Amino acid sequence: MRVFAKNNNIFKLLSEAVSEGLLVLNRERSIVATNRKADRMFGYHREELIGQPLHMLIPDPFKKGHDKHFDEYFKMHKTRKMAVEGCLFGERKNQEQFPIKVSLNPFNIYDNDYVLALVFDQTEISKRDFKIKELNEHLEKKIRSRTLELSETVAMLKKEIKRRKEAEKKIKIALQQQQELNALKTKFLSLVSHEFKTPLSGILTSATLVGKYKGAKEQEKRDKHLKTIIAEVRHLNGILTDFLSIERLEKGKEIYKFKEFSLSKVLNEVVYNANMQLKKGQHINYPQNIDDVLIYQDEKIVTLIITNLLYNAIKYSPEDSDIDILIDFEKGNMILKIKDQGIGIPEKDEKHIFERYFRAANALLNQGTGIGLNIIKSHIDNLKGEVYFTSKENKGSTFTVELPIGAIINT
Ligand code: ADP
Repeated sequence: MRVFAKNNNIFKLLSEAVSEGLLVLNRERSIVATNRKADRMFGYHREELIGQPLHMLIPDPFKKGHDKHFDEYFKMHKTRKMAVEGCLFGERKNQEQFPIKVSLNPFNIYDNDYVLALVFDQTEISKRDFKIKELNEHLEKKIRSRTLELSETVAMLKKEIKRRKEAEKKIKIALQQQQELNALKTKFLSLVSHEFKTPLSGILTSATLVGKYKGAKEQEKRDKHLKTIIAEVRHLNGILTDFLSIERLEKGKEIYKFKEFSLSKVLNEVVYNANMQLKKGQHINYPQNIDDVLIYQDEKIVTLIITNLLYNAIKYSPEDSDIDILIDFEKGNMILKIKDQGIGIPEKDEKHIFERYFRAANALLNQGTGIGLNIIKSHIDNLKGEVYFTSKENKGSTFTVELPIGAIINT
């Protein structure tokens, strides 16, 4: 201590120039010198510190550990400078504890070891760090809640976009259906005006002639014209039914009504009505051994399918030809074949045959709308069945329908 007293002026001069707290400690951990900054930092007068153990500047909980470190430092790092940071605390005279950072500088003078400790008061820095930490935490919390809000909004928006897209899709489909229906109506009007013309004039001629045949012996002539009228009306009725059928199918209004019914009853009715359409010498062969067969299907649709195919066979076949209806049952399906010896379907047209309004090149001289096959195909698809054909031009066609019919019931 005397050393520092002896050179007091020089030490004072130098130590006061240092902007941090300065403590000189001897091996016994006693304070041998201080500067004014250190005195003020710890709240003591210099006289109260000189000769006192370093302990008085260290809070109780750290005292023990500190002694150990101090001794070890003296032993091992005699000549090395060292900065001690993090979780270091000093204690002021008023017992207030405060964070510090210490830089240790060993030196030897007149064969005595000392340590010069530069003490940095970290109170302000700690407060600032604390504030920054607090601000950061606040910010992070805010970011978290904003992120949550944002992801909720994004999820809501996604839901809304999905809803709108679906609505848009529905509107588009409805619009497309409407457009198709409008196109269909326009097309139908032009078809009707064309297709109705010939039968209507036929009806008119027959009706006029019926009125002229007044004699009792002219019944046969009257019957012939009445037959023509009935056939033409049936034909016109068929076109109208087709059109209504399309509209129902398009609008998804078609509701199938399944029930058990007699196949032979339906077949007999269709063949009976078709007889009116037969050309001279045409003959329909159909199974006679199905009297006891009941099937489970939509009777109206089965009638429509057989009628359509049979009328086509008649229409596209020459006079004096046979039309065969064959019926078989296989694995819960009814297999219906309608075979004619007619004009057939040109190979290049085959792939279009079930398209709406399509008519093969060789069929254009016959009356027709190109609607019938398209309609029965839609029904058959809806009923999970199949329809296909084989054909050879000028030799004939065979149309096959496979339709689920539940179990075959033999009465
Ligand atoms: P439509 O007979 O009124 O023209 P369909 O839809 O019934 O309409 O038939 C579409 C087309 O398929 C016909 O125009 C014709 O070219 C062809 N077709 C249908 N059935 C036969 C058949 N049995 N023989 C030859 N061609 C046929």
